[in-house]
Amino acid sequence: MRAADIQADLDRVLVTDEQIQEKLAELAARVDADYAGKDVLLVGVLKGAIMVMADFARHLTIDAPMDWMAVSSYGASTKSSGVVQIRKDLDTPLEGKHVLVVEDIIDSGLTLSWLLDHFGTRGAASIEVLTAFRKPDAMKVDIDAKYVGFDIPNEFVIGYGLDYAERYRGLRDVAVLAPHVYQ
Ligand code: 5GP
Repeated sequence: MRAADIQADLDRVLVTDEQIQEKLAELAARVDADYAGKDVLLVGVLKGAIMVMADFARHLTIDAPMDWMAVSSYGASTKSSGVVQIRKDLDTPLEGKHVLVVEDIIDSGLTLSWLLDHFGTRGAASIEVLTAFRKPDAMKVDIDAKYVGFDIPNEFVIGYGLDYAERYRGLRDVAVLAPHVYQ
């Protein structure tokens, strides 16, 4: 797809690549301090968190192993239902680990709430959440994310790992998708 076509699909840019990198560097400095000397494991949720994980991990100075989980939540294409199925489980046991879940976005919070409950049964020493984006007006369950990049309005966004029908993940900025694309 040509760049001009992609531009026509965007309503407006919400957060630029530069703003994202600056924020991730700040969050990484906090995580460096909070997890110094601890047995930490970064857990990314595929596929949306790939860009956040790649950039965040490179801002960290502690050497934190990564693992990945793939889940699917059933529901309409732009909403999650909270009914979650594990498509790919972690390769690492969580027993005794300080788990930092790295997320792209918290929308209703239903998927993450399920994941946190599920991880809670696996013997982790602690579980915290880092998310690049959060939509406070869309949250249906209370998730206490310790590290939050940006609070954004309750609109469907794409870019920086976030897709619509598997498209737009490679955009560097995060933008609101123009309604004509999905209407
Ligand atoms: P939740 O369970 O919090 O409603 O959302 C879970 C997942 O839905 C997120 O991890 C993300 O993959 C997807 N999602 C939620 N909001 C958006 C959005 O605005 N844009 C995109 N592309 N995906 C979203």
